[in-house]
Amino acid sequence: MSTNLAAHRPADLPAEIRHWIGGELLDSADGRTFPVCDPVSNSSYATAAAGGRDDVDRAVTAAATAFPAWSKLGNRERARILYRIADAVEAREERLAALETFDSGLPITQARGQARRAAENFRYFADVIVALGEEAFRAGDQQINYVVRSPIGVAGLITPWNTPFMLESWKLAPALASGCTLVLKPAEWTPLSASLWPEILDEAGVPSGVVNIVHGIGEEAGQALVDHPGVPLISFTGSTDTGRHIVRSSATHLKTTSMELGGKSPVVLFADADLDAALDSVVFGVFSLNGERCTAGSRVLVERPVYEEFTRRLAERAERVKVGLPADPATEVGALVHPEHYARVLKYVEIGRQEARLVAGGARPAHLPEGNYLRPTVFADVPRDARIFQEEIFGPVVAVAPFDDEAEAVELANATEYGLAAYVWTSDLKRGHRVAHAVDSGMVWINSHNVRDLRTPFGGVKSSGLGREGGAHSIDFYTESKIVHVMLGEAHTPRFGAS
Ligand code: NAD
Repeated sequence: MSTNLAAHRPADLPAEIRHWIGGELLDSADGRTFPVCDPVSNSSYATAAAGGRDDVDRAVTAAATAFPAWSKLGNRERARILYRIADAVEAREERLAALETFDSGLPITQARGQARRAAENFRYFADVIVALGEEAFRAGDQQINYVVRSPIGVAGLITPWNTPFMLESWKLAPALASGCTLVLKPAEWTPLSASLWPEILDEAGVPSGVVNIVHGIGEEAGQALVDHPGVPLISFTGSTDTGRHIVRSSATHLKTTSMELGGKSPVVLFADADLDAALDSVVFGVFSLNGERCTAGSRVLVERPVYEEFTRRLAERAERVKVGLPADPATEVGALVHPEHYARVLKYVEIGRQEARLVAGGARPAHLPEGNYLRPTVFADVPRDARIFQEEIFGPVVAVAPFDDEAEAVELANATEYGLAAYVWTSDLKRGHRVAHAVDSGMVWINSHNVRDLRTPFGGVKSSGLGREGGAHSIDFYTESKIVHVMLGEAHTPRFGAS
């Protein structure tokens, strides 16, 4: 496998990543920047504009100015533009994948999938708004009540560094489809791929000011967006701690919020499952996207009769997963996004060595002396109160534990503060549904890893989030509903003061 970073450096990397406000590429009002590094050399290849309150204010003003015209466009017209955005994203698939891989450390083969998924988000929400009807309620011949939906205004979108472009598209598509204009604050560790949006949106004919991008540090640019009185809605994807803080800050202006937060999702594997299929799925579910996946099945609970065998096979497979340069098409696990995150994941590996039995990985691969690389790591016999069982690690690390019966499986599955996703493996149909219903999580897959149908609600319970996006739920989130009550007959009004 190739380990030469220079040979895989994308051509024409920008030296400066700037804000995009009102259709113009701009520096920060106070001229501040921050360095942007790649996760293999951990050295700075560009600077990005460090936005503050003035930049966010300019962006919100641009979005508010663009709002009346954009929100009044017919749904069909907006859908046409969304289709063109999807085409423009797909036309840049190779470039986008190369930039994403270089900046975030995602393996190139998985970064390509992200571009296709991003394009699909725009096509899907274009279809949704064209098909969208509004509800009406008839009360006999007396009254008819109908719902009018209006876009909520300037949306504030804040996104994390894992699969950055795809997650940005996930918010941009429904916000634009609903008729909102917006300000996007991309994650500061991975701002590179967001620099493609201006050319994509211009090519698609999105008017200036409809989409504005302010780069910067979360506590500065992100916080300014959350605090801005002209932004009635915040859609946030990121860590649980930041989400809690944003909900508290949003209370000042009573903002609508959607919180897609962390996870520690269980895989519940019964002895009657198809173990070969389950093994493929467990390995992919926790090690794809470098394990930096909110829905990763990072706790594997295995029924006792197959526990030893499954754990051994999982460890063997983990040892064979190819760790390498993100841009190498043979790579299955690339480099973790940032040295700070890498250090955090390594610390969990050290903690895990004290708490459980290490059966695979646990160290840097010998052939990769620099860069944020970790061999896929498997801990067995992990007790439920272990930190590696309870806390989100967000790297290629999995905790495995045995259970004796269905009740214990459900109890263990529910024994963390998180509740994003869960996976159940069994050939007993009734038990599959029963366990799916008993597990505290926003999403459950039976006999599969995370394969997503864009029409379905996405989100978590407990510390994994608030609210649902996805499908019609996204349109609900980005619009305000008004009910209009119309009397068709006589309104029988008590006649106060008439006698
Ligand atoms: P993070 O919370 O550190 O940052 C996310 C975003 O919030 C970044 O853009 C950051 O700049 C911004 N931010 C930070 N402080 C802020 C503040 N005070 N005000 C406003 N914005 C602020 O998260 P991260 O480390 O970038 O992402 C990893 C986390 O995201 C993991 O916990 C993962 O599970 C979660 N995640 C969840 C989902 C989901 O759909 N549930 C999807 C992907 C990632």
